[in-house]
Amino acid sequence: MTLPLPTGPRHVHCYVADGTLFDTGLGLGDAPWHDLHVDRIAISHFHPDHVGGASVASAVTGAPVFQGAVDYAQCDRVWGSRDWPERMAAWFRSHGVPPESTDELIEQGHAVAPFIRFSRDPELLYEGSELGGWDVLELPGHADGHLGFVRHGVLVAGDHLLAKISPAVGLYPESRPDPLGDYLASLQRTIDLDLRIVYPGHGEPIADPSARARELIDHHRVRLDETRGALTDEPQTGYGVSLAVFGAALGPTQRRFAVAETLSHLEHLVRRGDARRAEADGTVTYTGP
Ligand SMILES: [Zn+2]
Repeated sequence: MTLPLPTGPRHVHCYVADGTLFDTGLGLGDAPWHDLHVDRIAISHFHPDHVGGASVASAVTGAPVFQGAVDYAQCDRVWGSRDWPERMAAWFRSHGVPPESTDELIEQGHAVAPFIRFSRDPELLYEGSELGGWDVLELPGHADGHLGFVRHGVLVAGDHLLAKISPAVGLYPESRPDPLGDYLASLQRTIDLDLRIVYPGHGEPIADPSARARELIDHHRVRLDETRGALTDEPQTGYGVSLAVFGAALGPTQRRFAVAETLSHLEHLVRRGDARRAEADGTVTYTGP
């Protein structure tokens, strides 16, 4: 089932297989669920275009919602809290993002939150859980608690693997410390699974998942080199490094994604010993090793 999105890739795919609905779109209206007979609803990750329709889909179909334990904790912390946009904005400011961009984040965050109708107290899933004949995998990276559902070489993947887009891998407040390291390991795991096909949240099905995973590993290797190349002895914020890596011509929303992505690369470089992080007067900066 392909549902519309107002921004980004303009659509999100939900899938129905043997009584399981995978993901629920943004939650704009309840129309898509009326003729649907499912026994359970599985959520890949807590981003609005996947979890936003969960409670409405559950109410209309009567099916219970299953969500990753790590993912639900984060979902509730982000969409269930009144001051998340302010906390996020303060965190971006500590990485050098100018107030024009963080003010917009606060405004947008509060405008969007009421439309993200995630399900309260879902049944929790873990690595190794089984759901309707599918094995549950934890594939952290695009989101800390991102799940995949695998059966007979078929992976329903959410945004873990996309055919044309490189899934965003950002550092965010209260996220795991090395999301890029997590993602590279999850991509390697995808290769090791030797899958037949991947059904992603956006774009076409992926007929050679191992090749696509290798492409994404290479993409991040190049991006890590570029990020490393932008570092000098002069301390720079994540925002500053993002200007060097992604260029200066980005709107406020795209800039925040670029900063979060740059930070996931910087933190991975710090872990590898290829960069240093310092914090002074509430500002975080990075230098070469
Ligand atoms: Zn998505």
